[in-house]
Amino acid sequence: MAVLVTGGAGYIGSHTCVQLLEAGYDIVVIDNLSNSKMEAVRRVKELTGKDFAFIKGDIRDSALLDEIFRKYDIESVVHFAGLKAVGESVSVPLRYYHNNVTGSIMLFESMQRNGVKNIVFSSSATVYGMAEKMPLREDSPLGAVNPYGRTKLMIEDILRDIYVSDNSWNIILLRYFNPVGAHPSGRIGEDPNGIPNNLMPYISQVAVGKLKELSVFGNDYPTPDGTCIRDYIHVMDLADGHVKALEKLREDPGVVVYNLGTGKGSSVMEMIAAFAEATGIKIPYRITGRRPGDAPVSYADPSKAEKELGWKAKRDIIDMCRDLWTWQSQNPDGYGD
Ligand code: NAD
Ligand code: UDP
Repeated sequence: MAVLVTGGAGYIGSHTCVQLLEAGYDIVVIDNLSNSKMEAVRRVKELTGKDFAFIKGDIRDSALLDEIFRKYDIESVVHFAGLKAVGESVSVPLRYYHNNVTGSIMLFESMQRNGVKNIVFSSSATVYGMAEKMPLREDSPLGAVNPYGRTKLMIEDILRDIYVSDNSWNIILLRYFNPVGAHPSGRIGEDPNGIPNNLMPYISQVAVGKLKELSVFGNDYPTPDGTCIRDYIHVMDLADGHVKALEKLREDPGVVVYNLGTGKGSSVMEMIAAFAEATGIKIPYRITGRRPGDAPVSYADPSKAEKELGWKAKRDIIDMCRDLWTWQSQNPDGYGD
């Protein structure tokens, strides 16, 4: 029995593959490499000393998916494949809806045809939209505010509807907060295309000398130091959350949703300070205007995952910064070409 990992060459997927292999799972990975490199897959094999099938292909290729389900004895699916850049989703919404929503529908159809009804889906804290009441609980009001977020909410709704129609499905929706850091070996990590949109990859590229200075997007928010607060979570903790979710699927939970966050919010200024503490590197920064659409504060109540999955984030922001820097300093150009 194997786990099919869609998008397993990507940032969170590659780290999860390592943890799944370490936990003794057989895996099969499908990824079209639209936002990742084959080198990541090679390094997952190198780190774990384990081999697995990698299929370069798109989840919108039904014939290919059916072939995978027929060829391998797939028991469950961990579904990471998707496009994730919020700004880009505003410029090219159809690409996002087609890749994420159509792609997910085609995956679920193929699962249904092949009698595979267990899935863990990568959702996001972005489905809480501009919620004001913190911490965010799984039953907090939902409402996405951009096309990317809407694709996540739509896929969640589609999965909930599938369950209503056939309650032999088991569906776990994991809402990630802000994944950062890297495998402590520094062999795999986040390798964004072009100039990073996200705070921590931007900071690490300033540290390695690829970018001049960080722009801090606003210091006039209603927070203690005026900069926005997020719930940063180590990608290895997130990866462990997927191992726990797969264990949970064995209990036939039906459709369930969990926040994966630490429960602790950190401001942009606190992250700059943590990076200096962990690495000794002071990041030059400049305060600029607010980035449109940024919520002032977002952090999770992760107690449901602790209670029901037996999962809790173990690593703090110093661990995140240290491991991010190990990856970035050893791989200044990411996985390269
Ligand atoms: P990533 O871009 O590194 O990984 C996604 C992978 O999916 C890539 O390797 C890409 O090549 C692949 N892919 C995309 N479309 C595909 C398709 N149609 N067919 C096959 N492969 C395809 O992103 P990530 O940060 O690892 O995120 C993984 C998942 O988690 C995504 O669904 C993302 O939306 C979600 N998520 C990410 C974050 C974050 O901040 N990184 C936060 C919340 C949720
Ligand atoms: N941020 C920043 N400069 C950057 C990138 C991000 O000040 O170059 C801020 C951003 O305004 C937000 C926080 O850092 O308050 C986290 O941003 P990120 O894009 O990483 O996560 P998200 O906002 O999507 O949760």
